[in-house]
Amino acid sequence: MKKAIYPGSFDPITNGHLDVVERAYKLFGEIHIAVIQNPGKNSLFSVEERIDHIQKLFHGKPGVFVEGFRGLLIDYAKKKSIFTIIRGLRAVSDFEYEFQMALTNRHLCPELDTVFLMTDDKYSYLSSSLVKQVASFNGNITDFVPGLIQQELKRKFAV
Ligand code: ADP
Repeated sequence: MKKAIYPGSFDPITNGHLDVVERAYKLFGEIHIAVIQNPGKNSLFSVEERIDHIQKLFHGKPGVFVEGFRGLLIDYAKKKSIFTIIRGLRAVSDFEYEFQMALTNRHLCPELDTVFLMTDDKYSYLSSSLVKQVASFNGNITDFVPGLIQQELKRKFAV
């Protein structure tokens, strides 16, 4: 059974991320969603909160696992013995950074490959930061994130 890691910040997970997981699920028997604990990046939700959201969203779905990780992705991949990475591509603007990262990872760990999945075009402009910005001004985010995340964002921004 082929396995893959889908790493990201997921702060919060959006419909675009979910679309990528669904596409990956058709190709791989196990998807390990790896939530990055990046001390240098200011996040709205803690890693524990982000893991909790994703666990709830995929509750009862066999073959989808969620975990946090710190440090280099290649070390995490080696530890899990999973050498396929999934990344989502929205627009050409994602490409340069993703290309650089995929090749750097492969240089550091030659058995590692990155598979890029194109999201549905209706999510091609969607990002977690945009969703947070709209939510912070109480804008309508119903088309961007699932109901659970809408509630969590409302709670975060309700002061
Ligand atoms: P990171 O900080 O690692 O970029 P993100 O949570 O922003 O973490 O994104 C994780 C992955 O999901 C990246 O490959 C990113 O390109 C992809 N992604 C983000 N938003 C979307 C979207 N709307 N459609 C498809 N892929 C997306």
